Parts: sequence; C-alpha cells; structure tokens
Amino acid sequence: MENVLILGSGPAGYTAAIYAARAGLKPLLVSGPQVGGQLMTTTDVENYPGFERGCNGFELMQAMQAQAARFGTRFQEGMVTGLELAGRVKTAFLEDGTRIATRSLIVATGASAKWLGIPGEDEYKGRGVSACATCDGFFFKGKDVVVIGGGDTACEEALYLANLCKYVIMLVRKDTLRASQIMQRRVYAHSRILVRHGAEPLRFTGDGERLTQIWLRDSKTNHESSLYAEGAFVAIGHTPNTQFLKGQVDMDAHGYLKTDPTHFGCSALTSKAYHHAPVPGVFVAGDCADHVYRQAVTAAGEGCKAALQAERYLASLPAYLGEAKIET
Ligand code: NDP
Repeated sequence: MENVLILGSGPAGYTAAIYAARAGLKPLLVSGPQVGGQLMTTTDVENYPGFERGCNGFELMQAMQAQAARFGTRFQEGMVTGLELAGRVKTAFLEDGTRIATRSLIVATGASAKWLGIPGEDEYKGRGVSACATCDGFFFKGKDVVVIGGGDTACEEALYLANLCKYVIMLVRKDTLRASQIMQRRVYAHSRILVRHGAEPLRFTGDGERLTQIWLRDSKTNHESSLYAEGAFVAIGHTPNTQFLKGQVDMDAHGYLKTDPTHFGCSALTSKAYHHAPVPGVFVAGDCADHVYRQAVTAAGEGCKAALQAERYLASLPAYLGEAKIET
C-alpha cells in the first residue's frame, strides 16, 4: 500500500515527489509514456526562475528527477489505463496489468502534442512529419522545412530549426500569431524564417518513402497550392492526458480536468459520484487541468501544493493517528 502515488513525470509530478519524499512519505511516481514530460523536448527554457541565462529543458527535468530520487522517491515506468477512486484506498491500473493501491493520489499526467489529422500525416510521421524540432531537427540540417502553428511552441520550434535548416516557413492559418510578443519579434526578425499567414494545411504527400510536399488552402481565396518541404513540424497545441479518467470525473469538453480550486488552495479532482465535490485524497497538478497558464513554473507550484495537501490528508486519516509515519 502506497502513501502517495504520483502519476506523471513533468515539473508537477517531480515537484510533488520532492515535497512528499522530504515529508518522509516515500512516494511512488509512475512516469507515463514520455518520461520527463514536455520539457524533455524543449531546448531553451528562459523563464524558469533561478536560471539567469536560461536552461535546457532536458537537463532541467533530469535535475528534478535526481532531486526527487535523492529524498527517497521510487519510480516506475508505466502507462495508467484506469483508476478506482471510491473509498479510502484508491487503485491505479497500469497497461501491463499491475495494480497499485494507495492512500492518496496526485494526478499530474500533463498534456501531449496535438496532430493535424490530415491525409498523409500518419504515413509520413517519422519520415518527414514530426512534432518535435529538438528531437528530429538534426535530420533536416541544410534543408527546407515548414512549421505549422502560430503559438509560442511553433515560434520556438521555428527559431530552433532556423539554426539548422536552410529556410523555415511558418504556416499560420490566421492573420496574426498567437505567440507572445517577444517570440513574435524574434521570429519576424529572423532572416531564415518566413511567416506565411492564411495558410491552412490540407494534406502531406511524398514519394512513398519521404515527405516532399505540404498542400495548403489560402483561407481568403480558397486557392489550393503546394509547398516543397522535406520536413514538417506540427506545433499546434496540446491535448490533456486524461483519457483514462473519462466518464469517471469532471472534465471540460477538451478533456481538461475540472477541479475545486478552493480546496485549501490546492486543485482537488471533482467527480459526479461526489456531487461534483472533491474526491477525498485525490489531488491534481499541472497541465492536465490547466489550459490557461501551461507553464513549467505553475505546474511545479501546483505539484508542491498537491503534495502538501496529500500530506495533510494522510495525517487526518484515522489509521495515521498515533503512527509516526505510515510504512509502505
Ligand atoms: P497555442 O494553443 O498557444 O497555439 C496553437 C497554434 O496552433 C495557434 O496558432 C493555432 O491557430 C494553431 N492551430 C491549432 N490547430 C490548428 C490546425 N488544425 N491547423 C493549423 N493551425 C492550428 O499552443 P502552444 O503549444 O503554442 O502554446 C501553449 C501554451 O504554452 C501557451 O500558453 C504558450 O505561451 C506556452 N508556451 C510557452 C513557452 C515558453 O515560455 N518557453 C514555449 C511554448 C509554449 P489559431 O491561433 O488560429 O487558433
């Protein structure tokens, strides 16, 4: 029986683990399919406090994991497919058939990159179509590539690729970029990045082996055209990793978890079974419940709050009273 089970290995999950481990609760963290979360594929993180010159996302996550391990967090790789939340003991079911029983639970499963869902995308994934410039950009050194999207992620991908590739064309469906002002300025000022507005992706085509073209529709004229590209980087946002909770707890139309933010300042998962009130002992942190801020620092802060709240919850359990610590 676990005291604290943490689902997710992004900034929220690791921060929750650091706090729970330092409180002597010996947390178990189940990492999910992408160990370290989204920051593992982010090169420059310039806004995480404490790093005057910025830091590398991969290194930041490795350091968070090492910090969590140092205080006694245990790690398990695995994909959670379901949860049993009723009653005092919660159970997590993993894809490989493992069941983990726990007294408290922190859901910090984050979000994953979205795909366009257009013809040719699946066919050329890994053969020209990618959702991660830092993972795959190297393969397009000196070549022409496109980046699809107009948010901060797309700008970041374009700037990264502009250091490697011949030309980067950003395909943006609206007349404006959604990205922050500082990123917009950098993109527009870069001599090897061209921003094409009003471009809606229709399909990817290639020679059967590799991607060669992306087909576009002009959003004003409806005119169809194609663009030569050996690489296409899809950077159009994220989907919360909450499918395993569908139908069981409150979530919005996009799958972001609904929480009770007044629950001692900590996001607690709410459920219809509990009349939309917080499920006792279950806390939520990070992007799986946040479509507004979606920052590493806000996720880390929520991970901290969730762990402190889990600690208080455990201390309030009758079985805990009189014991120095619950042993696993
Ligand atoms: P956003 O939701 O901000 O932007 C998504 C972009 O993709 C928009 O331009 C959107 O267009 C476009 N898009 C969506 N669907 C399609 C489609 N089917 N076809 C074509 N274009 C499409 O997502 P991001 O991932 O960029 O950013 C998410 C959050 O993370 C933001 O808050 C951002 O600030 C933050 N972030 C911060 C970073 C940092 O601080 N270093 C780095 C990256 C992200 P439209 O505008 O028309 O809807």
